[in-house]
Parts: sequence; structure tokens; C-alpha cells
Amino acid sequence: MLLGTQKKILYPLIAFLATTLITSLVVYYSYKSQLKYSSALFNNLAQQQTENLSQVLTSDLHFIGAGANFFHATKPENWGQFHLFAEELVSSSDTLIGLQWMQRVEKQSLPEYLDKVRQSYPDFQLYTVPKDGPKTSGYIMPNDEDIYVATDIYPLSEANLKLLGFYSSRLRFQLILDGIRATGEPNVSDKVRLLQDGLDRTLEKTGLLVYHPVFDGNSSERLIGVVVGVIRTTRYFEGLIERTASGQQMLVKVTDLGFDAEDDPILYVSEGWESEAGLQVSKKIALPNREWMIDFKLASRVTNNDRIVLRSIGFGGLVIACLLGYIVFLQVREKEHLSILLDERTEELQFLVNHDSLTGLLNRRAFSEKLDELTKGDACFALAAFDIDKFKTLNDSFGHVAGDEMLIHVANTVAESLPEADLLYRMGGDEFCILLKNTDPTALSEQLNAIGQRVASSYHQYDVHQIQCSLSIGAAVRTTESAEDILKKADTQLYRSKKAGRNRVTVAE
Ligand code: GH3
Ligand code: MG
Repeated sequence: MLLGTQKKILYPLIAFLATTLITSLVVYYSYKSQLKYSSALFNNLAQQQTENLSQVLTSDLHFIGAGANFFHATKPENWGQFHLFAEELVSSSDTLIGLQWMQRVEKQSLPEYLDKVRQSYPDFQLYTVPKDGPKTSGYIMPNDEDIYVATDIYPLSEANLKLLGFYSSRLRFQLILDGIRATGEPNVSDKVRLLQDGLDRTLEKTGLLVYHPVFDGNSSERLIGVVVGVIRTTRYFEGLIERTASGQQMLVKVTDLGFDAEDDPILYVSEGWESEAGLQVSKKIALPNREWMIDFKLASRVTNNDRIVLRSIGFGGLVIACLLGYIVFLQVREKEHLSILLDERTEELQFLVNHDSLTGLLNRRAFSEKLDELTKGDACFALAAFDIDKFKTLNDSFGHVAGDEMLIHVANTVAESLPEADLLYRMGGDEFCILLKNTDPTALSEQLNAIGQRVASSYHQYDVHQIQCSLSIGAAVRTTESAEDILKKADTQLYRSKKAGRNRVTVAE
């Protein structure tokens, strides 16, 4: 069984913990479902972004392809019109910063070729930038192979002009040529440092080149040149939105998985990518000759609004838990209080069953029980019955209240005169009985006389009156008598005391 204090702590605690637990579950499942919802949104958004990017790229490939078609479809004497054609293409694209024509030139036709180009660009000079060397003028190919020379470029900006006359002497370019020759498809480079930006190798790589083959009108085997689209990577990826519709920060990283990109594969990365930990999805874009992986990261898994809602639920739950705990505490305390009251009342009632409410003495019921118990066996004891003399007159003279007080006075006086083993009962009215251990008639008579005299010589102060009374006492010693007989015997002696003039003791012989 729990003690009151334990209940007062335990029950409110259980109410508090249960409510807190329910609140935690509500918050947890709300958070989970919110997370699921934002993950799905995030995934959709990532997919959409990837498709957008893929479309932009496809459209650029088409623009560059259109440039290639120009050289394919027009005669060399009209190639000078390239600018008019390119202008429209480049201005229609947000990301294409230039379109360059790299014409295939055989070694032996170089002088003739140079003469021709210098008619348009008088300062035109052939140059290359070998893999580990500085810018080098002239033709330097070891095996007399054909070269692809930047012969025209759009727009003719100062930076772009630097590119005229450039040809690649590197193996990588040969591989790209092999690729586009074999598939007829455009070929996207890995991230490159644009020559337009200068020759400084410490410059950041921010460009991509798209090579589009131009075949001889009659032969799909023979390349007459390559149209190269120049793309500024930063512009591509700046377009990827970095926020979801609900305002969560979204980070993006684009990695080139293709050939030769291992040294610097990251095409673009949002600021703070490494430091943020969050939900991540990866998408891929397939280009004609390579793949890009796009990683999206959601920095915060739930929106600010959802966070506020979840915190409010948590806080509200905590307040309810506290209130509930307090209410349960009050109830336990109230219940405990009622239970104490009930115990007290029950105790009082139990007392009244066996006691007289005026004098506090044992009552007739208790007397009968005790007498029955004693007379069942061969117990030897004395029974004295006494009655206040002329009590009616006392009541009439001083009033009922005085009478009551007198009854209490007599009860107390007699009780004080008795040894602990003797039992005093109020039978009703002004009648009392005593069960005594004293069984010797002479000693009994003396004991009862002493009691009678003590009452008679005492008084009760009522208002200005000193009220006195006397007792008539009758007694008998029980040996084998029944309850009824011994009671009758004592009563007879009491009657005899009254008859003989009251204020006396008569003990049966
Ligand atoms: P006797 O000497 O013959 O005994 O005369 P008595 O006047 O005492 O006569 P009796 O014993 O017959 O009268 C008892 C009276 O006690 C009757 C009643 O008015 C009164 N009485 C009974 N119970 C109570 C009580 O609880 N309080 C008070 N004040 N009076 C009571
Ligand atoms: Mg009387």
C-alpha cells in the first residue's frame, strides 16, 4: 500500500509523465510526417532542377549544332558570314559566351590558309600551348598531322580575339576528335581554364567546351572542322535555385564523372556545402559523352514555420502536463483529506455504539455483552446497580442542563473511586451499574459505601448553586447465576435501599 505522501508525488508524476509522453509522441510523429513531406518535395524539386539544367544544356548543344550546320551547309567562300549567323545563336542563349570555328588545316596548306585568314585578321598568328610549356608560335606537331585552328570567333571581344590562331597540340584534343568522328555526336569537355581568361595556369577553371563536328558535305567521315561552344559553368549553375518554395536553404554540388575530370571534377558547389549536414539526394545528367552528378542538400529538414508549430505543440503539451499533474495532486490531497475525515467519523460512530454520549461511560449494550460473556462461564464477580435519589426533583429545580451536568459529575466521581479492573456503565436515565472484582460481601459493602459517601459529600457547581445528590446502591455477588438472575438480584437490593430511605448500600446475602 502506498502512503499518502507517496501517492501525492507518484500520481501527479504519472499524470505529468504520461502527458509528456503523449506530447512527445505527437511531436515526434508530426516531425516524421513533416520530414516525409519535405523529403518528397525536396526530391521533386531536385528532379525538376536536374531536368531544367538538362534542358538548358540540350538547348545549348542545339545552338552549337546549328553553328556547325552553318559550316556544313555553306561554301567556304561564305564562311565569313559566320558572325551574322552566330550573333543570333549566342544572343539566344544565356550561358553560351562564345562560338568559335576551328578549321582543319593540313600542314602543306598552311601558308595559303594564313594568307587567306589575314585578309580578315591582319595580325593572325598560329600558336599553341603545349601541355607543360609556354605559348608557342607556329606549327609544332611532330608527325605533320592536320591541325584545327581557331579561325573565327563570335563575339569579337578583346578576350576572344586572343584565341584566333590557336590550335591544340594535346593528346586530349585528338581523343575528342576521335570521339566526335566516331559518334557524330557533340562532345562536352571537362572543366577547363578558358584561353579567353588568359594563359595564367593559376586561374580558376570556369569554362566548358562543347565540340561539334563539321563533316565534309559529301562525306560523313571527313571532318572539315569543329565548332566549339564556350560555356561559362558558373552561369549554368547559378541558375539552380538554392531555396525551396517554403524557404529552406538548398545546397547544390555538380560533379563531372566523365573522362579526364578526375583532377578537378567539381563543376560547381554552393557555399557552405561541407559544413551543412542535411537531407541529400543525387541526380544524374547524361551528356552525349559524359555524365554529371548533381547532389542536392537540404540544410534544414523542416521549415521555420513547422519548427515553430512543433515547438508550440511541445510547449503546450508541457503546460498541459504541468496543469494535469497539479490537478491530480489536488485531487489526491482532497481524497486523502476526505479519507481522514471518514476515518474520524467512523471511529466516533464505533465509539458511540458502545458508549454513552453524555458521560462517555460504557452503555447498556456494552454492559449486556460483558455480562453475557462473564455469566457464560463460572466467573465470580459482583454486580452493583445504583440510581440517583430524587433526580427528577433535581431536574425540576435546576433544569435539564443542570441534571445533565450532575449525571456527568456522578459518573466522574464514581469512576474516580473505582480500581481499574472494575467497570462502570450508564444503563440509561439516572441508572448505572458496576461490575466489580470484589466478591467478599463485607468488603464489597465497604467499597460501595465509600463510593456512596464520596458522591453524597461532593457537589457540582451549577451557576450559583452547589448541587448535591446521593445514591441508592444495591449489589450481589455472582457465583453461578445467569445474567438475568444476577441483574434481578442487584435490582432487588437497589429497590431495598430506596425503600429503606435512600442514600445507602444493600448487598445481597
Ligand atoms: P427516585 O429517588 O425514586 O429514583 O426518584 P427519581 O426522581 O430519581 O425518580 P426516577 O429515578 O424514576 O426519575 C428519573 C428521572 O431522571 C426521570 C427523568 O426526568 C430524568 N432523566 C432521565 N434521563 C435523563 C437525562 O439524560 N438527563 C436529565 N437531566 N434527566 C434525565
Ligand atoms: Mg432516581
